[in-house]
Amino acid sequence: MYSAVTLHKVLLVFAKEDSQSNGFCWACEKANYRCSMARTPESALECFAEKLHDLVIIDHRHSRHFDAEALCRSMRAVSSSENTVIVAVVKRPDREEASVMPLINAGFNRRYVENANMMACYNELLQLEHGEVLAQFKLRAGNAIFTALEQSQEAIEITSEDQVIQYVNPAYESIMGYQQGELIGKEIIEVPKSEKNKPDLLETINSCIRKGKEWQGVYYAKKKNGDSIQQNVKITPVIGQGGKIRHYVSINRPLNDNNKSDKANERVQAESQTDIQSSKHKDRRKGSLDVRSTTSRGSDGSSQRRHSSMARIHSMTIEAPITKVINIINAAQESSPMPVAEALDRVLEILRTTELYSPQLGTKDEDPHTNDLVGGLMTDGLRRLSGNEYIFSTKHPHHIPSHLATPLSPNDIPPRIAQTMETEDSWDFDIFNLEAATMKRPLTFLGLKIFSRFGVCEYLNCPEATLRSWLQVIEANYHSSNSYHNSSHAADVLHATAYFLCKERVKQSLDPIDEVAALIAATVHDVDHPGRTNSFLCNAGSELAILYNDTAVLESHHAALAFQITTRDDKCNIFKNIERNEYRTLRQAIIDMVLATEMTKHFEHVNKFVNSINKPLAALEENGGNNDEESVKSILTSPENRILVKRMLIKCADISNPCRPLELCIEWAGRISEEYFAQTDEEKRQGLPVVMPVFDRNTCSIPKSQISFIDYFITDMFDAWDAFADFPNLMQHLDNNFKYWKGLDERKLHSLRPPPE
Ligand code: 5GP
Ligand code: MN
Repeated sequence: MYSAVTLHKVLLVFAKEDSQSNGFCWACEKANYRCSMARTPESALECFAEKLHDLVIIDHRHSRHFDAEALCRSMRAVSSSENTVIVAVVKRPDREEASVMPLINAGFNRRYVENANMMACYNELLQLEHGEVLAQFKLRAGNAIFTALEQSQEAIEITSEDQVIQYVNPAYESIMGYQQGELIGKEIIEVPKSEKNKPDLLETINSCIRKGKEWQGVYYAKKKNGDSIQQNVKITPVIGQGGKIRHYVSINRPLNDNNKSDKANERVQAESQTDIQSSKHKDRRKGSLDVRSTTSRGSDGSSQRRHSSMARIHSMTIEAPITKVINIINAAQESSPMPVAEALDRVLEILRTTELYSPQLGTKDEDPHTNDLVGGLMTDGLRRLSGNEYIFSTKHPHHIPSHLATPLSPNDIPPRIAQTMETEDSWDFDIFNLEAATMKRPLTFLGLKIFSRFGVCEYLNCPEATLRSWLQVIEANYHSSNSYHNSSHAADVLHATAYFLCKERVKQSLDPIDEVAALIAATVHDVDHPGRTNSFLCNAGSELAILYNDTAVLESHHAALAFQITTRDDKCNIFKNIERNEYRTLRQAIIDMVLATEMTKHFEHVNKFVNSINKPLAALEENGGNNDEESVKSILTSPENRILVKRMLIKCADISNPCRPLELCIEWAGRISEEYFAQTDEEKRQGLPVVMPVFDRNTCSIPKSQISFIDYFITDMFDAWDAFADFPNLMQHLDNNFKYWKGLDERKLHSLRPPPE
């Protein structure tokens, strides 16, 4: 399927029709390529997201029409553009040749100096097709070829030039009765041979293939159980650079016994369906060509699916290597036969959900020693997915002693404050009103209300007085002197968290213990924040940075301090009455969420969420709507995915300011900027490196800083969160706020608000 490369789809982006665009149109026609034309960057991006052209030609000659480099960058940001060749049409240089570096940096593969001559355009297309486009096809094909090996019904064995076995395919295992692990790394001569062959046959074969020639003939191979099996064998040397033999590929088809080989094939199929249950007995050493060991366990119904146009979802993720790999495979699936596409489905499953460098251990029936060893050496107490996670589902109902069962009395909250909190379940709730009404203690009061609404005390079997003391002591450990990272920010994040938890999709995914963990995590997530960033603390050699080795310094501190404060005094220990296992699970979930607010991991969290949750959900939807409730449920509630939902939830809550109503958004922007200004002031005073030079109070444009923050972090993340759980109101605010900042920026204003008329 990859031998005859046909270039199907070309996109031309020219603002206006001219002889040059006509030249390419004509050339496409002559070469029999399907050609689309876009006049604006917007329509180009839309068309590209839909059709994913192999070749895009962008007019770079007239900057007044559109910015060709910006357009190229945006196309490269569509993660599926990986294999697209993008060409810039540039003006003929009148004096000096300019460097192509800016073009390359923008993501162009090549430059075409304007020449409207039709034959010149045609020749350019041909050269592209046979050069760069062909190379991209080959890259894509590599993936499919490995899958073809896995799916082949012939027994295939690959060895190195000195005949050490590097790979055998599943059909080989099945026909010969060996497990891959028993063979990989062995020399061919170590594997028992059948006595039925003519004595000098092996030598004949060897002398033939050592010369670089192919050998084909009939050969008896010896199965593991001692039986001989007659096979039609073809051994092909693989020649590498300099004419040197690099590998031998041996393809073996059992002779004379059609029934038997059919059986074997059936077995291969059956095995790949139930999927390598037996792999736990296998040698886990990975040969260099051992693809098998990364093949999925558990293939659900997903294999019938073919992924096609998920452009919207694809375009959500910012390029990460794993996303690129996933997109390459997706693209290869498009043009692969069904069995290959199905196998690739399983590969995708693994890539989306697995810690790629951790060995996969079965959870239940693994040898306990192995489990303990791996558990002890390879987990850090937090990411112990397979062990503790299952405690979630074995929750026991709590017996609540009657003296503790008194509901939170609304009388305990002063009426004015209670009134301020009446609209607390709305997204547009004004937290700054509450901040004023509570004299900067919004966290305690909002916490009491929200925790009671979610039945947290009942869940934790904890007296309301304990919760009250806990909220008070946590709030007291926020610095009211910080302009941004004070207890109002914590209350705001708690508010957003509670709001998200009420969404249908989120509720479908999470258990009660997850909800409790999320509310607690939001409450404590920035406790004792010094109003300085991690990099400041590291540069300043602060005690905290030393304590936490310059890694996730603040987030580690927030989580650790929260548990210290909570558990050092029974009076405020909300965990006192839950049982040990439940405490461990809850603690683990809280720590994981607080650490997830660290921004160095931002894209990792967002990408994992999109790849493991949004894309599979979108694929299901595409495949026939709602009749697949079970599959949806299994995506939403797997332990791994619940962790991803919780991380995404707290992250979105933490930086949801740009999605709040304009007035609130402006206030938050003012506060974060002020906190950053104060940091820059101090850095200058102390002669420390200035980590965010743009946040200098004398020169900073707040609108610009907000635009960048939204562009870089917010848009993609909330697109994904909205696609998951549907937040039209947030997206509307985001849009509105973005336009507001743009408006100020266009008027070259640097402050939060326009000056009075
Ligand atoms: P937090 O420290 O609040 O848990 O994590 C949120 C991160 O996002 C912090 O690094 C915070 O400074 C940053 N952040 C929140 N809002 C804004 C904003 O409007 N602009 C910028 N540049 N950073 C922000
Ligand atoms: Mn925060």
